[in-house]
Amino acid sequence: MPFEHGDRRDRVRAALAGLDADAVLVTRLVNVYYLTGFTGSNGALLILAGGGACLATDGRYRTQSAAQAPDVDRVIDRAVAGALAKRAVLAGVGRLAFEAHDVTVEQHGLLLAAAEPASLVSLGRVVEELRMVKDDVEVALLRAACAIADRALADVLPHIAPGRTERAVAAELEARMRSYGGDGAAFETICAAGPNSAVPHHRPTDRVIAAGDFVTLDFGARLAGYHSDMTRTVVVGRAADWQREIYPLVAAAQVAGRAALAVGADVQAVDAAARDMIVTAGYGEQFPHGLGHGVGLEIHEAPTLGTTATGALAASVPVTVEPGVYLPGRGGVRIEDTLVVRPNGPELLTTAPRELREL
Ligand code: ZN
Ligand code: ZN
Repeated sequence: MPFEHGDRRDRVRAALAGLDADAVLVTRLVNVYYLTGFTGSNGALLILAGGGACLATDGRYRTQSAAQAPDVDRVIDRAVAGALAKRAVLAGVGRLAFEAHDVTVEQHGLLLAAAEPASLVSLGRVVEELRMVKDDVEVALLRAACAIADRALADVLPHIAPGRTERAVAAELEARMRSYGGDGAAFETICAAGPNSAVPHHRPTDRVIAAGDFVTLDFGARLAGYHSDMTRTVVVGRAADWQREIYPLVAAAQVAGRAALAVGADVQAVDAAARDMIVTAGYGEQFPHGLGHGVGLEIHEAPTLGTTATGALAASVPVTVEPGVYLPGRGGVRIEDTLVVRPNGPELLTTAPRELREL
């Protein structure tokens, strides 16, 4: 088994002491996967502070859960959270921590009833915080996912030309990522041409790419649950003066943001390292999103690099750096890489060229 699920559960137990809780009920599926290896669509995990853990899932996953999570007890019951809450009470749990950010008001009511007479306390985002720091196996999967995206882009760039649609280019990128071993796209591939490139999260349409367009491609591959994330912007034909102004600005801001990734760096300061250049150039209003985000089992996860984010970077935390400048009605530029924070400077996982390309 490549992942040390037992060690991960021990780290959750260590966090329980501060909450004065006897057990934790993990209901976010991505966190259940992280802590057990179980990939089913219905599951929850009970971790007892004193030792022992129990995975609940329904009958569809009886065989799969035994194979994927052989080192925990199992309960087969469709109502996974309630079944584990009852089990916790039988085990003598008086205070049960749960993932309040994942539970609806309705589910909370059911959980309260099932956990009676135990009391509930919020675990907070303890598992998400543990997930920020990746081990070598996780980074290797991210590195491989990024390499798949790099190869796909190299194949597709020569095919971006007047007459093709955004949708066709996006579909080709996704097909190439699959052909290079990706399990699929990490998220819905963005191909945004011309004025659409000024919309940061544009969805591909039948718009026909035209000479003079900026074309922004934001995409990634998914591999064994891990996601890569990269953006490149190119010009179809010769770049106009306004394109020659904002492209190098964004590229320089992206270099500054990458250079600011250091162990212990404040996440707001990393954002500012890139943002200040764009603000100074007079385009601050045209950069309306954060500089980047963590990436791993989710395409967007902790930490956030942004103007209102808090915290400091640790070693072995993968993040994206993706400044952009968007001019409504004309077009925009975004350049994004996935990197890993390292003691001797960040490790770049996405390596496609970043200089202005005129296709
Ligand atoms: Zn992206
Ligand atoms: Zn991103």
